[in-house]
Formats: sequence, C-alpha cells, structure tokens
Amino acid sequence: MNRKQIAAANWKMNLKWAQAESLLNDLFKQPIHFSPNQQVALGVPFPYLSMALSYAKNHSHVEVAAQNSAQYASGAYTGETSAEMLQSMGVHYVILGHSERREYFGETNAVLAEKVKLALQNGLAPIFCCGESLTIRESGTQNEYVANQLKESLFDLSEFDFKKIVIAYEPIWAIGTGKTATAEQAQEMHAYLRSAIAAQYGEEVANSISILYGGSVKGANAKEIFGQPDVDGGLVGGASLKADEFLQVIAGLK
Ligand code: PEP
Repeated sequence: MNRKQIAAANWKMNLKWAQAESLLNDLFKQPIHFSPNQQVALGVPFPYLSMALSYAKNHSHVEVAAQNSAQYASGAYTGETSAEMLQSMGVHYVILGHSERREYFGETNAVLAEKVKLALQNGLAPIFCCGESLTIRESGTQNEYVANQLKESLFDLSEFDFKKIVIAYEPIWAIGTGKTATAEQAQEMHAYLRSAIAAQYGEEVANSISILYGGSVKGANAKEIFGQPDVDGGLVGGASLKADEFLQVIAGLK
C-alpha cells in the first residue's frame, strides 16, 4: 500500500499540562515500529504544540497537528492562531472542518475553503474533516452531502495543492458516541469519496490521497476498519487520550 496510512490523534480540549506530558511519555516509552508508509499525527491543543513537537522531533514517522487555524493571514484577530505561526514552529498538519467546529463555531464550507488555502500557502497539510449527521444518513443522501463538502471547500484547489490534503471522513453520529460505522459503511463512503475525487482530479490523484475514518475508533476495532481497501487510517478522539488504546490503534494500521 503506497498511500500514507495515518493514525491521527485528536485530543480536543482535554488534559492539563502534566497529564499531556505523561500521555506523551507513555506513548513513546517503547519504540513504535512503523512501516515506511505509516505515520502518527498528534493533534494537540495549541498550548501543548511545543511539547508534542519536542517528542516528535526524536521520532521519525511522528508529526504534530494543530486542531484549527485562522481564516485570516495575520493582524488584529485577537485570540486567533495563524497558519504561518504554526508552520514557523514546525507543525506539519492542521485539522480543519471538524464537525465540532462546524457546529459550535459556525464554520461553513466557504470559511473552510479560506482556511484550507491559507494552510496550504503556509506549508501546512490540512486534515480536512467531512461527514454527515444522523438525519442526513437516515434520509439516504449522505454521499451527495459529503461530496458537496469536498466540492465547496477543496475542489477549487489546483491538483498540486489538492495532493497535499488528507481527508478524514467522520460521520457525526459516530463521533464520541461509541457507535462506530461498520467497516462496510466506512469503505462504501471512502470509495465514493475517492470516485468523486477521481472525477475532479483523475484516478492517479484519487489513488494517492489518504482518506482516514473517524468516529469511535479504538484499539479493538481499528484493525478491521483500517483493513478496508479505501480506509487509510483514522482520526481518533477519545481513544487517543489513553496511551495503551492509541498504541493499539497505531498497531491496527495496514
Ligand atoms: C473525533 O473527534 O475526531 C473523533 C473521531 O472522536 P471519537 O474518536 O471520540 O469518536
């Protein structure tokens, strides 16, 4: 498998400083064996980016992700963090469009298109989240809904830029609920998204893009989900807060 296979942690707004340190210590106390195409991304809160970077620099195959970046380049935007700042400190990824940011902070597809562009201009690789609510899933229109999220936020990008994107499909009904999509449901959506990408950018680009699954991934189900042909790892919330669980998730990468 040539595509990058990624176990991405999303700590969200959790852990105090000492807890973050001890989680990182526990994660890295034994060497992790990676295949050449495997990678871990540590999506930590802004105050812990430097801490995570100091671990990542001693471990190949480990990168750091911010959980958001501003839609503006720089200037009088109190409380915001720019893509340029993140890049300047050595952050590799930025998670954009998480459903919690869409829902609680009003991030629209159009705002996300701006954030994605700025992230790319500043050398960050976006982990772009998409996914449908339960209502949309029950109405049977999830494929069109999620493809439209990609279309409105990503499909204006040049092929050169689009190739730097990682996509995370996260059905909202499966996030933090303990209710995981079945491996078949994940595969079906991932294959559909890959075909939508192929229609826009061609097969070669579509086959090169990593599409992660997110939604109650844990040690016990990672291997089955990641084993699907179009699933290239996961974006992991709750289970990334426990070293043993997350190490098991990493071990589930193909
Ligand atoms: C997430 O927040 O990206 C996520 C998938 O959370 P959880 O793994 O807890 O469902």
